[in-house]
Amino acid sequence: MIEPDLLTALHEADDVLCVSHVSPDGDAYGSLLAMGLLLRNLGKRPVLAMHDRTPREFQSMPGASDIVGPAAVGAGYDLLIVLDTSSMDRVGAVFQPALHASIPVMVIDHHITNTYFGRINWVMPDCAATCQMLVYLADALAVPLTGKLAECLLTGIVTDTLCFRTSNTTPDVLEAAMRLMRGGGDLVHITQRLLTQRSYALFKLWGQVLQHVHLEDGVIWTTISLAEMKRAGNPSNDGQLSSTLITASEANMSATFTEKRNEQGRPVVECSFRARPGFDVATTALALGGGGHPAASGCTLPGTLNDVPPQVVAALKAAHQAQLAAQTQSTNYALTRE
Ligand code: 5GP
Ligand code: MN
Repeated sequence: MIEPDLLTALHEADDVLCVSHVSPDGDAYGSLLAMGLLLRNLGKRPVLAMHDRTPREFQSMPGASDIVGPAAVGAGYDLLIVLDTSSMDRVGAVFQPALHASIPVMVIDHHITNTYFGRINWVMPDCAATCQMLVYLADALAVPLTGKLAECLLTGIVTDTLCFRTSNTTPDVLEAAMRLMRGGGDLVHITQRLLTQRSYALFKLWGQVLQHVHLEDGVIWTTISLAEMKRAGNPSNDGQLSSTLITASEANMSATFTEKRNEQGRPVVECSFRARPGFDVATTALALGGGGHPAASGCTLPGTLNDVPPQVVAALKAAHQAQLAAQTQSTNYALTRE
């Protein structure tokens, strides 16, 4: 399952820069920190870097305090490992072309929208998390799934599957998680810290933006303005509101549109999409320049909350309509064959 080239590249490298994506989640931190542990186990010198400062909920993960930001990355690496990231633009400022353009890149990822941007690309869309892939890498390297490694890897699997509830939660996912729990991974600690905690400010935000939630043709969405964020006390993120919106029984797709400013101060809208099993929002995200998974994807578009959401909602509704029609067709086909 793991290419010999990948193992050779790991064995031959000494100074390894490991990075993951902007707006990092549990799988980004879990896979980054676990890769650091695996490399140290092989006697390598890994440096772990992230574009964002570590949010409070991830600061207690083993090794999180050693993660450096863009300013401290430096040069002199013989391998760059990019984890849980579908394209190079998603790593943000930790990749600095002037310093890093000539370093061989190894991609380890589970996004179906991965662009295979490395010299070595290990992409497994059937895995529910990059951390699941690293369970198999640990096996290939004969590293036991215990202690800090088990904690980091279980964190990524639990958070990316919303605690084993997403449609990509296969028996293999449960088996990997079971082995990590046997090795000391603490499921309750992870779910309590990362899945069942919301700040007061977040409720103040949801209280505002749920007043103007819309539902049309199986698509539910709302917008989040900078003014609403400020009035709520600036929560650090939207608490994955799109994941809550998709629980609306009338909806098969959900979206949130968050007003932001880019690094040049220009208005952009961050779009976050979710789909119920059997529906796919990754294709729409990819067509809009983003990416992700069939059930969870996103993109960032230039523009304001006045112009971006209507266009994107129209694209989602069209995709929803087409997917519904395809499902009906295949049901009819099945019925006529009976
Ligand atoms: P979220 O909605 O939680 O921010 O993101 C859901 C999924 O979509 C994640 O897997 C994330 O990696 C992916 N995603 C979100 N925004 C973008 C984007 O702008 N580009 C790409 N390639 N993927 C994105
Ligand atoms: Mn992931």
